[in-house]
Amino acid sequence: MPSYDFIALGSGPAGQRAAVQAAKLGAKVAVVSAMRLGGVCINTGTIPSKTLREAVIDLSQVRQRSLYNMGVPAGVVTSANLLARTRSVIQIEREVIRSQLERNGIDVFHGTGRFVGPHEISVEGEEKSGILTGRQILICTGTVPFVPPQLSIDHRSVLTSDDILALPELPRRLLVAGAGIVGVEYASMFAALGIPVELCDNRSTFLDMVDSEVRSLFQEQLESAGVHFHLGEKIVRVEPGKKLGHEVIMESGMQLAADVVLVSAGRKGNSAHLQLENAGLSADDRGRVAVNDHFQTSVPHIYAAGDVIGPPQLASTSAEQGRLAACHALGLPGENVPALFPFGIYAIPEISWVGKTEEELRAADIPYEAGLARYKEIARGNILGDLYGLLKILVHRQTQEILGVWICGTQASELVHIGQAVMGLGGKLDYFVRTVFNYPTLAECYKVAALNGMNKLRLRAKT
Ligand SMILES: Cc1cc2nc3c(=O)[nH]c(=O)nc-3n(C[C@H](O)[C@H](O)[C@H](O)COP(=O)(O)OP(=O)(O)OC[C@H]3O[C@@H](n4cnc5c(N)ncnc54)[C@H](O)[C@@H]3O)c2cc1C
Repeated sequence: MPSYDFIALGSGPAGQRAAVQAAKLGAKVAVVSAMRLGGVCINTGTIPSKTLREAVIDLSQVRQRSLYNMGVPAGVVTSANLLARTRSVIQIEREVIRSQLERNGIDVFHGTGRFVGPHEISVEGEEKSGILTGRQILICTGTVPFVPPQLSIDHRSVLTSDDILALPELPRRLLVAGAGIVGVEYASMFAALGIPVELCDNRSTFLDMVDSEVRSLFQEQLESAGVHFHLGEKIVRVEPGKKLGHEVIMESGMQLAADVVLVSAGRKGNSAHLQLENAGLSADDRGRVAVNDHFQTSVPHIYAAGDVIGPPQLASTSAEQGRLAACHALGLPGENVPALFPFGIYAIPEISWVGKTEEELRAADIPYEAGLARYKEIARGNILGDLYGLLKILVHRQTQEILGVWICGTQASELVHIGQAVMGLGGKLDYFVRTVFNYPTLAECYKVAALNGMNKLRLRAKT
């Protein structure tokens, strides 16, 4: 029965970062990994979807099409071409993790772990099975797709994002059930390939966490790319179709045809098989494990981090939660993930933000002004052919503190870090007014938005 100071159950960002941190602090560490190394992040979620997006942008030449008045290039946009790049990136990323764990002397057990006691983990693997004991244990088993009961997944033409890499060929018409982040990302990618996409959600709004001005701009661009929104429409069943593979029937009576249905209805904590009760723990009805500010569960030597503890469910925050959990478990002073971190929606176009929405500021009665820069006013935006992009800075009317940065357009998820850094360091709007940026760059949007915001603040002060 091998015994360890620290065992991570799962090798996604939380498990991987926790394991390395624990090893750096001198602990004897094991990682139990049910999937191939890297978890959902590397194998089925973040990395496949982001690589696929990059491949779609390259092969469909979506950025160049309007500049050179051309259509989707024939011949090269095939499922095989798109997926080949994705598979190769996944393989490289897995290898990076494998070598990192190996360099740090971490033992990896390929198999599914479950609790047989508060310190004992039974591992059932293809090669080896047995029981490991751990002084400290981290549950970082991530999530699995939530599938509404009226839909049944066949993993070929009614599938979840977990099956996207197995798609044998591109659909002629795609229906995406669920307009959350994953749903809109895939909807926009397939639309960029020239494939008509039906995007359905039973809620009457979508991406409610996004600032409404940015969301409207985003929706307009998706619609012009060929995404048809059906909000407030609940799918009741999927039947065999006459022309295309499936006929999707809504509660309202509406019927939509598609040959592939991508079910993207959210995710639930992957804890059902862990036999938490053997460790004196339980999960909530969404499979999530509750933790305190130090990522400790109600059993103090058992920690949980990453998507299995609930929002924000990002790879970035999961990795940091894992690292902080390991620090606390090994006796370093407790910290939490900083409150200010960015979000990215890697659709085409990209959305990224840090801080508050206008709606949140209004609800909290915080006086603010919005400074805007449109990419079409920025030389780099014109050069790139992104005429719809927008960067918006929300600033406190009295203190000039930056309350939020919102970006929709090319490079949004990179550009947002400029705003995050300035906000994190307590910089105010005048920082951007005084700063000189490289020209021509999209970063220049910060200066233009700040000047716009400053002018509005002056005008307001005069009235
Ligand atoms: C399609 C998609 C796109 C995404 N895009 C982004 C993005 O662009 N940016 C971003 O920040 N986030 C993104 N995410 C979210 C991101 O993938 C997660 O936040 C992140 O992977 C969570 O990391 P984790 O360590 O909690 O666990 P995961 O990455 O979920 O990994 C958990 C691992 O634990 C394994 N496991 C489960 N049970 C056991 C067990 N009993 N024993 C051993 N191993 C077990 C699982 O098989 C899995 O491999 C995306 C998610 C999806 C689904």
